[in-house]
Amino acid sequence: MSEMPEPIKNPDIHSTKIFINNEYHDSVSGKTFPVYNPATEEKLADVQEGDKTTFKATLQTNSQPQMTLLTTKSQPWSGEGQEAMVGYVDVDKAVAAARAAFKIGSPWRTMDASQRGRLMHKLADLIERERVYLASLEVVDNGKPFADAYDADLGEVINVIRYYAGWCDKICGKTIPADGPMFCYTRHEPVGVCGQIIPWNYPLSMFTWKIGPALACGNTIVMKPAEQTPLSALYMGKLFTEAGFPPGVINIVPGYGPTAGAAIAEHMDVDKVAFTGSTEIGRIIQQAAGKSNLKRVTLELGGKSPVIVFADSDIDFAVANCHHALFWNMGQNCCAGSRTFVEEGIYDEFVKRSIERAKNRKVGEGFQSGVEQGPQVNQEQFDKILGLIESGKQEGAKLGCGGKRTGEKGYFVEPTVFYDVKDEMKIAQEEIFGPVQSIIKFKSIEEAIDRANNTTYGLAAGVFTKDIDKALTIANSIQAGSVWVNCYDPGLIQAPFGGFKMSGNGRELGEYALHEYTEVKTVSVTNFTCGDHQASPQGLK
Ligand code: NAD
Repeated sequence: MSEMPEPIKNPDIHSTKIFINNEYHDSVSGKTFPVYNPATEEKLADVQEGDKTTFKATLQTNSQPQMTLLTTKSQPWSGEGQEAMVGYVDVDKAVAAARAAFKIGSPWRTMDASQRGRLMHKLADLIERERVYLASLEVVDNGKPFADAYDADLGEVINVIRYYAGWCDKICGKTIPADGPMFCYTRHEPVGVCGQIIPWNYPLSMFTWKIGPALACGNTIVMKPAEQTPLSALYMGKLFTEAGFPPGVINIVPGYGPTAGAAIAEHMDVDKVAFTGSTEIGRIIQQAAGKSNLKRVTLELGGKSPVIVFADSDIDFAVANCHHALFWNMGQNCCAGSRTFVEEGIYDEFVKRSIERAKNRKVGEGFQSGVEQGPQVNQEQFDKILGLIESGKQEGAKLGCGGKRTGEKGYFVEPTVFYDVKDEMKIAQEEIFGPVQSIIKFKSIEEAIDRANNTTYGLAAGVFTKDIDKALTIANSIQAGSVWVNCYDPGLIQAPFGGFKMSGNGRELGEYALHEYTEVKTVSVTNFTCGDHQASPQGLK
C-alpha cells in the first residue's frame, strides 16, 4: 500500500462541461443535470448534458445556424423560416471531432507509435501529480473511502495507462508463408472511432480500462461517463490537453444513457462501442449496433459470481477473503462474490465468523479515517438493495446481521449477511450490487459445480481449498471468464477480464484487450522474384 496522504475534503469542481477537440463546451440544448454527493445527498454541481433530444428550431432573418450538423441523422438548415430537426447534436459534434482526428494524414495517424506511448506516459505522470485531487473527487462523487480511491482505484488507473503505453510500439501483424509467389502479411490497424460507455462503480478505473487499449492501438474516442459520477472523467480532459494529445483524439460527453449513451450506440459513424454496465442495457447496446452500422461491440456486464469454500480451507483466511469478495466497494462490483457456497463440515463456524466480521465493518463517510464502507451511489441503488434484503427475509433466508439503512442522511446500508440461502431465492438469483452476503451450504464437489453454474451469468468465480485437485477441478468446470484460487479479484491488469454467457463478450485488460481495438488487414503482394517460384498465370489471375 502506498503512503496515504491527506485528502482534499472539499475538492473544487473544475470541469463540468462537454470535452470536444481539447476544449470544454456547453451543451447545444443548454441543458444541465445535477450530480450529488451520496454521503450527504447534497448537490455537487450541474453538469452540461450531452443530449440526443431532437428539437425543432426556426431559422430567423439574419440569424446564423448555431452549429454544423454533421451526420446522416441530422438535416442541414436550408432557408429562412424553415423548421430544422436537430439530431444527436452533442454526440454528433464529438463523433465528428473523433473522425477528423482519425483521418489518414492527421497528427494522430502520422504520429510514431512510440510517441503515442510517450503521450500516455506523460498522461500517467499528470494523473500521479493530481492523484490526491482525483481520489478526493471520487470520494465526493461516488462515495467510496478515500484510502480505496487513492490506493486501489488511482493506483490501478496509473498502472493501466503505463501498461498500455508500453504496448503502443509492440502491436504488429505477421508475415504469412502463403502459397504461390506471394509476400503476404497482416497489419493490425486501429478500428476507428470508438464509443465507450462506462458505469459509476469505478469511475476512473473503468475510464482507463477503456481508453488504455483504445489509445495504444491508435483509435479515437467518444467517452460517455455515468451520469451519477462524471466529474473525474471530465477533469481528465484538462490532463489530455496538457499531455499533448491532438484535438479530437479523446472526447468526453456526459449525459444520460437513453439519450447520450443511445446516440453513441446507434451512431452510423462510430466504428465500435465498448460498454460496461447492466446486462439489460448491454442487450440494448448490441441491438442498437445491429440496427445501425453493425459496429463492433464489446460488453462487460453483470454477474452472480460463486465462491466455493471447501472444508479443508484455512477458515479465517477464507472468511476474510469471502468478506472482501462481496463487501469491497460497497458490494458494487460486477465480479462481487455474491453466492458464498460453503461445505457442510465448516458451514456453521464459517457463518458465525462471517457475521462477526461483517458486524465489525466500519461504515461511514469516505473521508473518515479507517472507514471500509461508504454509501451506495444513489437513492435508486439504495432502494433496490433494501428491496432485495426485504425479499430475502420474506423468502426465509436467515438474517445474521444488518438488513437496514444506517444513519439518517446518505445512502448507507448496514453490512448484511444472510445464511441458509436457497438457490431459488431472489437474493441468490439477482445481482444485488450492494453489501449483502448470501451464504449457501453444499455437500459435494459435483453439487457445488452444478449449483455454481446454475445462473445465466459467467463473469468470475473463486475457490478456497488446500487440495490442488479440487482447485483445478473447479477451475476447469466453472463457466466463468476468471477463476481465482485461494484469492479473490487480485486485480491483475496484465490478465484478461470478461464474461462467459450473459456476463458479456470480449475481454478487457492485458494483451487480449488489444484484439478488441484492432482490425486485422491482410496484404498479399505478388513477388515475381520470390525464391524458387516462377510467376505463374494462376498467380496473376
Ligand atoms: P446501466 O447499465 O443502466 O448504466 C451503465 C452505463 O450505461 C451508464 O453510463 C448509463 O448512462 C449507460 N446507459 C444506460 N442506458 C443506456 C442506453 N439505453 N443506451 C446506452 N447507454 C446507456 O447501469 P445502472 O442503471 O447505473 O445500474 C443498474 C445495474 O447495473 C446495477 O444495479 C448493477 O446490477 C449493474 N451494473 C453493473 C456494472 C458492472 O460493472 N458490470 C456497473 C454498474 C451497474
